[in-house]
Amino acid sequence: MSLLDKVYAPGGAWKKTITVSDDVAVIQTKPGQSPFLLRFAPSKAEAKAVPTYWRVKPLMPPEEPNKRLAGVKIALDPGHLGGGWAKMEERWFQVGNSTPVTEGDMTLVVAKMIADKLESWGAQVYLTRSKAAPVTSLRPNSLRKAALASLQDKNATVTDFSLDKESELLFYRVGEIRRRGKLVNEHIKPDVVICLHFNAEAWGNAKKPKLVDANHLHFLITGAMSAEELSYEDQRFDMLVKLLNRSYNEELALTNVMAKKMADATGLPPYRYEGSNAVRVNGNPYVWARNLLANRLYHCPVVYVEPYVMNNKNVFARIQAGDYDGRRNFGGAMRKSIYREYADAVADSILAYYSGRPL
Ligand SMILES: [Zn+2]
Repeated sequence: MSLLDKVYAPGGAWKKTITVSDDVAVIQTKPGQSPFLLRFAPSKAEAKAVPTYWRVKPLMPPEEPNKRLAGVKIALDPGHLGGGWAKMEERWFQVGNSTPVTEGDMTLVVAKMIADKLESWGAQVYLTRSKAAPVTSLRPNSLRKAALASLQDKNATVTDFSLDKESELLFYRVGEIRRRGKLVNEHIKPDVVICLHFNAEAWGNAKKPKLVDANHLHFLITGAMSAEELSYEDQRFDMLVKLLNRSYNEELALTNVMAKKMADATGLPPYRYEGSNAVRVNGNPYVWARNLLANRLYHCPVVYVEPYVMNNKNVFARIQAGDYDGRRNFGGAMRKSIYREYADAVADSILAYYSGRPL
């Protein structure tokens, strides 16, 4: 109950579809079908654990000498697609004739660096994608019927343009993410997923983007679902899986470690959400709960990393510098390449969190 109120469905968002009494939760299922009854165990001792494919630290294999992450299964999810898809997914901007900034390519660079470090410590590492391409076989052209239905469902105007845009959205924001969800839950079955992103502020025209002074860092864990979102059976189901398997405890503990390391490495202040789509869950100003397909679908613990404003002036200069050895001066401070700074902080946090198991 406290997780429902505090994390998953604040403000009573769950109350339209779930009724809770002392011994049972009555959960609405499909319209016209009888509700699902989730009976509570009479005591903690009699409660059965929810079966999960992921493990908490005490259930992981022991560490090996020099392989402190031996047996730990980690999935890295490089956000977006990049490459030839970057413009379509609106993760592309270019200042004059400089190298275009494409989030999907940058997240892949970071993911590969993290993978190298984690593997050297003995972890089993999986990438949800290993190149600038989708893992789904769907394409916008094959989604036009679904796009039409989706626009009509939203009472939106149907034009050639809106139909194109909606088909593209269904491709990269829904089809692709659902495919990655299936990969993670049915094939990889990792102990944790780390979703890698770079943030941005509104840049306006992608060919004349606005460069800004704002820069920040935050982390997302699954939660903050609205009553409307919970009115969909699939979202209600995904929420209940996460709620009951207690991935929250792992998400929060690992995120706390990562937030500290990344704030130290980057010097970035916490981002603050002003709307109701995200809520704070503890005293850590860097950690927010938010409902995204890309974190809700993964049934294991998920940490969603959102550092750096790509169209911040200093960050933009660092992206243009690319990857390099050692440190260079940016804005009066000697910095690692932005990719190494990001990758080192994430990899070191994972090592700090999962090591310390008995040898
Ligand atoms: Zn992103």
